[in-house]
Amino acid sequence: MGTLSIVATPIGNLEDITLRALRTLKECDVIYAEDTRVISKLLARYEIKKPLQRLDAAMEMKRADQIIERLEAGGRVVFVSDAGTPGISDPGARLVALVREGLPGATIEAIPGPSALTAALSIAGIDATAFTFLGFLPHKKGRQTALKKIASSEIPVVLYESPHRILKLLNELSFQVGARVTLARELTKIHEEVVSGTPSDVIAHFTAHPDAVRGEFVVIIEAKRK
Ligand code: SAM
Repeated sequence: MGTLSIVATPIGNLEDITLRALRTLKECDVIYAEDTRVISKLLARYEIKKPLQRLDAAMEMKRADQIIERLEAGGRVVFVSDAGTPGISDPGARLVALVREGLPGATIEAIPGPSALTAALSIAGIDATAFTFLGFLPHKKGRQTALKKIASSEIPVVLYESPHRILKLLNELSFQVGARVTLARELTKIHEEVVSGTPSDVIAHFTAHPDAVRGEFVVIIEAKRK
């Protein structure tokens, strides 16, 4: 029986890849990737040449059968998402569940590595003994409920947000009296930046530096800061 390796990849800086991840990529038979163009850059950097197959969120069901067949034949299969840890606001979970169900004897191994979630918390200076991760907030239905949940949370809440919506989110949070937000932007990249303060402070920062409303953001909200 083969092995399915779920491999974490860099969230920006291509040096952020573990030795084990590189060895797994080098030794596998095939790499399934959320976007083959994204993983190609990483593979080129480390001079790894492997057959690539696309497996995005819409294809997890379809590809699972193919992967199960490969594993039955003893294949070594890798799955990578575009960046960071698969399954964390990324495809991967359904694939793992389907393989576990369809082929109970198969080895499914984690090759851990970067995630924007843990990278942000590691430099936020916030006690992350306990926190809630909500990923991307829903755009419409359920958004108000999620914002209320954030406002009443006793522990930090971590979100992912796109640059197009970051100011909208900060404006929504500005009604939460006493809340403090920390934004970790462009982690591991040239323009890496951490900005903290009340939502209004952070809005003021971005108004003064409009160029900084770019890239990728992790948002940490402490609604009831102790
Ligand atoms: N699986 C990834 C992980 O483990 O972090 C997350 C994938 S999710 C589709 C992409 C979101 O993660 C971005 O919109 C942003 O909120 C966050 N993110 C990814 N890379 C980041 C980075 N370098 N700096 C800050 N946030 C990042």
